[in-house]
Amino acid sequence: MARDENLRPPPTPGSSTAAVHGGPAPARPWPRGPVTPIFQSSTFELDDAIYEDIARTGGAETWWYTRLGNPTTDAVAAKVAALEGAEEGLAFASGMAAISTAVLSLVAPGGRVVAARELYGETFTLFSGAFGAAGREVAFVGISDLEGWRRELAGADVAYVETLSNPMLRVADLPAIARLAREAGATSIVDNTFASPVNVRPIAHGFDVVLHSATKYLNGHSDLVAGVVVADRERIATVRALAKTLGGCLSPFAAATLDRSLKTLVLRMQRHNDNALAIARWLEGHPEIESVAYPGLDSHPDHDLAARVLDGGGSGIVSLCTRGGDERAAAVMNELRLIAQATSLGGVESLISAPFNTSHRQLDAEQLSALGILPGTLRLSVGIEDVGDLIADLDGALARTAGVAGRLSGGSRPRGVAGAAQRG
Ligand code: PLP
Repeated sequence: MARDENLRPPPTPGSSTAAVHGGPAPARPWPRGPVTPIFQSSTFELDDAIYEDIARTGGAETWWYTRLGNPTTDAVAAKVAALEGAEEGLAFASGMAAISTAVLSLVAPGGRVVAARELYGETFTLFSGAFGAAGREVAFVGISDLEGWRRELAGADVAYVETLSNPMLRVADLPAIARLAREAGATSIVDNTFASPVNVRPIAHGFDVVLHSATKYLNGHSDLVAGVVVADRERIATVRALAKTLGGCLSPFAAATLDRSLKTLVLRMQRHNDNALAIARWLEGHPEIESVAYPGLDSHPDHDLAARVLDGGGSGIVSLCTRGGDERAAAVMNELRLIAQATSLGGVESLISAPFNTSHRQLDAEQLSALGILPGTLRLSVGIEDVGDLIADLDGALARTAGVAGRLSGGSRPRGVAGAAQRG
């Protein structure tokens, strides 16, 4: 039985007791406001209903310990589920916690994952390293090689892809990959971080599970690290069962911050889409730019597919290849005044990084060019600033570095770009 709120603390507590327990509990129940409260508590008082739930379901339907569930983190997960058109969601401490827990829980030891080769570097490392050690086999196929997907999916448990690949922004044929996975009896999982649910809702295209690094567009303010998985109730129960053991739960405070950020997601994404398209078009006409990758450009290899799949817009990432190779690219970054060098993406502020010494630094020149990452490639995460100011910044940096060029091949790529030691 829960204690009567009015009975605690004792009428005349000692100062140590008062410091821990506070004054008498308010006579009225907590009010409801427009904002989800932050339940910054690792544990909750047990009562008859919770004991009963623990006995019946293992405690799945009540809150009693935050690693297993918390009202604030569950509220933000439910919001992402609603945005993606899914039944339920689960929030994690990072995108990688979401990915590793979800995929491991949905593939038993001895099972098999088929994944696009064009993956975020850390996900590739997870699949090609830790997964093997954990008894899961992983086969990689080219993101647009539908025949390869069909072949490899025979007998597989999971198909795994990212909506937009990093950094060349290849578009996944979500309806086709979902259909091939279904025909093979495999669960389809998509990382929708780069596109966001404003630009595509993969469940509407037949996907079973959608996950996010909420660190990026969902939060959008570069002030927290988080992940979310959404799916049907049954699959989320499976993911939750492993999540409580692996323990990568989101902190309630970060969940509340993410919840607030999501209120402006649609507005932010519309601005990211518009700014990125304008910058991609401007860059394409610039004489110092070799090539530009953006799904909204006619020149993009997946332009038609993007028109079918990305019904909101092309999102906010633009990849550009400067004339003069990686030395020029590094010089351009150093000359930017408004756009900062940092490896993350999806924030309101514009950020730029070079794949060769950050997100893809583990790859050699041959592997980089197999992914379309040529010397001189930069990844620009376009923010929500005034687009004219961003273009002026890029224009100035390109003009001030006009003479810089390097003869670059393989290991001779320059690595000394300030602040570029981490990945994102
Ligand atoms: N998925 C994608 C597409 C990413 O870009 C990232 C990080 O950059 C992640 C997952 C991992 O997310 P986190 O850094 O939140 O663990």
